[in-house]
Amino acid sequence: MIWETVIGLETHVELATRTKIFCGCSTSFGAPPNTHCCPVCTGMPGALPVLNRRAVLLAVRAGLALGCTVSRRCAFDRNNYFYPDLPKAYQISQLYLPLCRDGAVDIGGGKTIRIAELHLEEDAGKLVHDPWTEQSLADFNRCGVPLIEIVTRPDFSAAEEVIAYLEKLKLTLQYLGVSDCKIQEGSLRCDVNLSVRPAGSRELGTRTELKNLGSFKAIARAIDYEARRQIELLEEGRPVVQQTRRWDENKDATFPMRSKENAQDYRYFPDPDLPPLELEEAWLDSLAAAQPEMAWEKAARYQTQWGLSADDARTLTGRKPLADYFEAVVELGAPPRRAAGWVLGQLLAALGARGLEAEHIPLPPAALARLIHLVETGALNRNTAARVLEAVFDAGGDVDGYVAAHGLGQISDPAAVEEAARAALAANPKALADWRAGKGKAKGFLVGQVMARLQGRADPALVNRAVDALLEESK
Ligand code: ADP
Ligand code: MG
Ligand code: ZN
Repeated sequence: MIWETVIGLETHVELATRTKIFCGCSTSFGAPPNTHCCPVCTGMPGALPVLNRRAVLLAVRAGLALGCTVSRRCAFDRNNYFYPDLPKAYQISQLYLPLCRDGAVDIGGGKTIRIAELHLEEDAGKLVHDPWTEQSLADFNRCGVPLIEIVTRPDFSAAEEVIAYLEKLKLTLQYLGVSDCKIQEGSLRCDVNLSVRPAGSRELGTRTELKNLGSFKAIARAIDYEARRQIELLEEGRPVVQQTRRWDENKDATFPMRSKENAQDYRYFPDPDLPPLELEEAWLDSLAAAQPEMAWEKAARYQTQWGLSADDARTLTGRKPLADYFEAVVELGAPPRRAAGWVLGQLLAALGARGLEAEHIPLPPAALARLIHLVETGALNRNTAARVLEAVFDAGGDVDGYVAAHGLGQISDPAAVEEAARAALAANPKALADWRAGKGKAKGFLVGQVMARLQGRADPALVNRAVDALLEESK
């Protein structure tokens, strides 16, 4: 039998607000445990939630970018369950009237993934398990951090499609400023719902839900593993049990966590502390009008407006901070194609050598723009400029200061170049003889010798001309 895999995703994304969704506590990551808590986010009796306006704004931005319909009226519900990371014993979420519905994401290759809904909710705390003492400690800092949950229809049929969707989602949300989407820090978390069915069948099989997927690689491996596991069961005539399974990175396998609860088990009911949310049409219109340029729109513009290649445009826009940096350099007057060459060449190399991410480029855009200007005007040659970039990269970026202090300005005085060329020829009689004997390569060697005498700072065209002239003369 030929089997087909069917996947639907539930993705939780932490919103980039400064404060939590229903109180003023900070959302910053990595603070000492239980220092960003108050009676509201820890659910003390009598504490009342107040909705964070910016969380709504970011969620609407995300919904619009994913092609959703934004509801003018939505509401919050309590999702009741007991777990040690949830001191309130309920999570405020949206079950009955979610903020956004019915979107679509084009993942390339002619495939579109439908978004069923996008809703707002609050995050739970975190349990830290200490294997030495066999104790679990609760950190409530994350309680009440705003989340959006994005639920797709079961439209994926392979791991590659899931990864393409997540990459696009991540890029979209980063461009919108909605979230930093760091899967390692947990600001993007994805649950995979997976079933298999005979190819061509239209009925859905029984699904399992996979959790604890800490990287895109883990997601892809878990999908492949779980599809195989289900197919083996069905081929042996055994049923797939609907359950939540945990991916174990070290064992490279999924294990049952619990049987899958139904919505009834959570006893959802409208939160009596929060009034329904009414959004004004004018506010929604103003948000729609102010949507920022998306990565693929930028990439298209770089090609049409600035003549960059499709590959270069895609690489530059593949990370928002890199695109921002590139545009800042262009804004400061650098010719776009030159700027692209420097950013994709020397700059990425310098970042890579230091293990830095694009959001942490130490060199100010103005320094790179200045360097490009000096090359364009002939004040520095390209190789020297590359050396200067390396030297000032993490030292403040004082290009002019460095060039002056090290006497690196390009040598474009013909007399100085000619003098160096004469000296080089005199010092290398063998090369001269080789050239006379018809070995063309000898000229390249002599040019290199002249450059070396001028510390690599000479205008290459001038050096070439001087060597040509002297070789003619020596005939
Ligand atoms: P629950 O409320 O139990 O989480 P939902 O109906 O909200 O269930 O679906 C959760 C996710 O599971 C959605 O992304 C949906 O597309 C996906 N899904 C539902 N049924 C199946 C199935 N049989 N196979 C694969 N994915 C499924
Ligand atoms: Mg669900
Ligand atoms: Zn709080």
